[in-house]
Amino acid sequence: LRRVNVDGDAQIRGRVVVLGGGNTAIDCARSALRAGASSVTVAYRRSRLEMPAIHEEVDAAEREGVTFAFLKQPVAFLGNGQLEGVELADVELGPADRSGRRTPMTTDRRASIGCDAVLLALGQSADESVLPEGWSLRDGRAFAAGAPLPVFVAGDLSTGEGTVAHAIGDGRRAALKALAALGDAVAEVVPAPMERSVPRSVMRFDHFPRRPADEGAEHEPAEGMLDFGEVEGGLANASEADRCMSCGHCTNCDNCLVYCPEGVIVRHGAGYAIDLDYCKGCGLCAAECPRGAMEMGAL
Ligand SMILES: Cc1cc2nc3c(=O)[nH]c(=O)nc-3n(C[C@H](O)[C@H](O)[C@H](O)COP(=O)(O)OP(=O)(O)OC[C@H]3O[C@@H](n4cnc5c(N)ncnc54)[C@H](O)[C@@H]3O)c2cc1C
Ligand code: SF4
Ligand code: SF4
Repeated sequence: LRRVNVDGDAQIRGRVVVLGGGNTAIDCARSALRAGASSVTVAYRRSRLEMPAIHEEVDAAEREGVTFAFLKQPVAFLGNGQLEGVELADVELGPADRSGRRTPMTTDRRASIGCDAVLLALGQSADESVLPEGWSLRDGRAFAAGAPLPVFVAGDLSTGEGTVAHAIGDGRRAALKALAALGDAVAEVVPAPMERSVPRSVMRFDHFPRRPADEGAEHEPAEGMLDFGEVEGGLANASEADRCMSCGHCTNCDNCLVYCPEGVIVRHGAGYAIDLDYCKGCGLCAAECPRGAMEMGAL
């Protein structure tokens, strides 16, 4: 198996097979094309529908010339000292596993694909071997022999979330933790629990103007093919932010106040107050809040 460095000395020249089905597999495939591969095939053990990769990026890879072999499980590398191919077994999908995706079941039916290089894109995790011996990580902090050290960790090493946005947010939380440990009076940022997220069922979409998403500028493959320039041009401007509906956050729109049949909701400081002595509990206020910022509950 030849190791290939796609952004350094770019030695991919022949037929490349990428093993995996996530975003990294798609990145490897598109990078291999740009680095000079004559053909690129992504082999994945589930079907296209179950691919964890972003579907638009799978489509873009296909437009650029990447081919896909779905329901294929790699079982052997072929060649004698020099890679010549990969043997792939056909896969049938069984019952759903804990992730909700159907379990791939390898069959005895096999075929091989000839290739000159294989890129393994089979998942990634933080390498904790960089830590000094005896150290462990917990809640964004390093520990030795159970005692906290003045060392804070953030991003993939800490959370394993695997996105830039999570890494940035976690970096901020780690900085606040460090400041707090140094004695600064800072409030810790605690992420809102997922069970508090606002479901679609409580949103009142009729209250919002319908505006299709800005899909951003994308350069066609012929332009972007053989260089590593940006393919996606990004959004034209910040107007996309206007589509935010502030789910779960009161924007002082006054809807609840207007809809309350008893007139018991009044503006109060930066928010509202409800005269509970006269509230009939009809629930209209919560039902008419466009963004799920209000809910009914027992006192
Ligand atoms: C191929 C690929 C594609 C991705 N695509 C996306 C994407 O499209 N969108 C997205 O949101 N996320 C994507 N990610 C994930 C994203 O890159 C990471 O989640 C993010 O970079 C994590 O940031 P971080 O600061 O925690 O770690 P990193 O960005 O990995 O930074 C860690 C830094 O530490 C340095 N380092 C490591 N060991 C040492 C050492 N011993 N001494 C000194 N320095 C060291 C490394 O060189 C590196 O610069 C992708 C990841 C990969 C691998
Ligand atoms: S529950 Fe009904 S009466 Fe009470 S504040 Fe809401 S809309 Fe008004
Ligand atoms: S609670 Fe909802 S309806 Fe009432 S002012 Fe806030 S956003 Fe508007």
